[in-house]
Amino acid sequence: MSDYQEFHRRSIEQPEAFWGAEAARIYWHKPYTQVLQYDNPPFRQWFAGGETNLCYNAVDRHLAERAEQAALIHVSSETGAEQSYTYRQLYEEVSRFAAIMQAQGVGKGDRVLIYMPMIPEAIFAMLATVRLGAIHSVVFGGFASASLATRIEDAAPKLLVTADAGMRGGKVIAYKPLVDEAMELAGAAAADKVILVNRGLAEAPMMKPGRDLDYATLREQHWHDRAGVEWVESNHPSYILYTSGTTGKPKGVQRDTGGYAVALASTMEYIYGGKPGETYFSTSDIGWVVGHSYIVYAPLISGMATLVYEGLPIRPDPGIWWQLVEKYRATVMFSAPTALRVLKKQDPEWLHKYDLSSLRALFLAGEPLDEPTAEWISGELKIPVLDNYWQTETGWPMLTVCNGVQPLPTKLGSPGLPVYGYNVKLLDETTGEEVPVGEKGVIAVIPPLPPGCMSTVWRQDERFVNTYFSLFQDRKVYSSFDWGVRDADGYFTILGRTDDVINVAGHRLGTREIEEAVSGHAAIAEVAVVGVHDTLKGQVPQAFAVLRDPSVLKDPEKKAALEKEVISKVASQLGAIANPARVYFVNQLPKTRSGKVLRRSIQALAEGRDPGDLTTLDDPSGLEQVRDAVQS
Ligand code: AMP
Repeated sequence: MSDYQEFHRRSIEQPEAFWGAEAARIYWHKPYTQVLQYDNPPFRQWFAGGETNLCYNAVDRHLAERAEQAALIHVSSETGAEQSYTYRQLYEEVSRFAAIMQAQGVGKGDRVLIYMPMIPEAIFAMLATVRLGAIHSVVFGGFASASLATRIEDAAPKLLVTADAGMRGGKVIAYKPLVDEAMELAGAAAADKVILVNRGLAEAPMMKPGRDLDYATLREQHWHDRAGVEWVESNHPSYILYTSGTTGKPKGVQRDTGGYAVALASTMEYIYGGKPGETYFSTSDIGWVVGHSYIVYAPLISGMATLVYEGLPIRPDPGIWWQLVEKYRATVMFSAPTALRVLKKQDPEWLHKYDLSSLRALFLAGEPLDEPTAEWISGELKIPVLDNYWQTETGWPMLTVCNGVQPLPTKLGSPGLPVYGYNVKLLDETTGEEVPVGEKGVIAVIPPLPPGCMSTVWRQDERFVNTYFSLFQDRKVYSSFDWGVRDADGYFTILGRTDDVINVAGHRLGTREIEEAVSGHAAIAEVAVVGVHDTLKGQVPQAFAVLRDPSVLKDPEKKAALEKEVISKVASQLGAIANPARVYFVNQLPKTRSGKVLRRSIQALAEGRDPGDLTTLDDPSGLEQVRDAVQS
């Protein structure tokens, strides 16, 4: 048995001893009474009775030793802003922001919704929220008003923090009008107050008297105010992060506090190899789980400087990320395969222009890492390139190679082995039995889930159990909704989702959400959205829509105009990331006799593959129409 196998075995067979030792990595205001409380499976409580605070561990704890060291470095290639904050400055900004929130009535357990571009204030707001024992819900800035509204409705925040605008590729994207629209849509659940960080990008944002407050003014008013830390029990929720599933309604993934801090701190040693005082550069966005864990909490809990970047990887030129690695001597970099595929298309000289000797490893996550991209970037950087497989639900990697425990070889196309704490199995979908080596199965985790994984679905315990723990009724194991296969050395390969979730450039989208947005267009009677393979983004959504009035199809101009209209409808409701690459119009969708739309067959045809078993098909002409549409 290798050292790593032994390490992993111990984490599974003796979880209390294993995690009890790991818990020493963070500060506990009050010691826990039990490492693991597991009397109500699948719910579990890690470090029950212990009191801590995420913000204290990320900020205050470092003041004694590293007050003057950089904590947050912000670079915007969009506005040209570049600013560094030491741990002392971060403490001041965060405790002041927390005081501002407190003055607006925010306290323990209240929700604060954060809808922000990648600016320092977004991170101050996250840390200020957890400082007060309040719960943040960050909504990705690329989502539009309808997506924002469903999240406001579910989280019912007391406060919403936003900015006048974001910027992407030199284009200003106004946020405030979307917030106003979403607040209207959310009705009674709308936040009492909105704090707006005015970057001066959008023209004079509308401020609703009595509700909307200007951050700069509040910051002046509260200049000398500092809010203290609210100690919370380890299982107190730190945040809610919405993610897409099979239904049109996103799920609020609820995360704990103590377990999350411990798990993240452990990964910095065992997976990432980042050390205090070094710079961690994650190119993700705070709207995603990678941003929560590896832009904000893990680097800061570990006493590192986190490099926060606003902009595209190729602006002002394709060397920008490498230039930042050189300038800030980043030792760990975390990105997504899509971004690397974009960079791979550029002149390799951009990579050779900079001194990248500080960089020890590159981590990629969020979507399958294709072999050509992995091979290209490892060859260029000549450092380990590690594929991390995980999900919003888990909060930290489930499969990878833990070089901090034992350097083991990587295999192209595979994220690697189960990470310590995760008892990962590949199970047969129908029997629930483990599948043999080389055979496809559902990636499942035998509970208890390790510290830091989702506690429940926000305010829907039943949905948590029904969604994740009922694939195999009697066994009550956690289903990832991903297919995988394992080789004789135990290395996993991910084969795609078992549900209707698609992955566009590393972003998880539910096809049902897009379908709902498309159906919102008055001309559409029915629609099916599927994810279709794309060489750059991994997958893109394509819509197959049935019109109320098919006569439109006779006029090619009207048809093209309608396609554009439908796409912009999706953009205005959900955000441009959900835009269908194409909208095909058909007279009928292929369905089973029981009326279920055959999405998998549509997807197969759209990708030029065989549509598979069609014995349950009601009327073959639906499929013919899809075939004709994609071939036209
Ligand atoms: P999200 O919750 O948005 O991070 O999406 C999680 C999903 O993305 C997983 O369930 C997988 O389908 C996919 N995913 C994440 N990381 C990887 C990876 N390294 N390789 C393949 N698929 C991945």
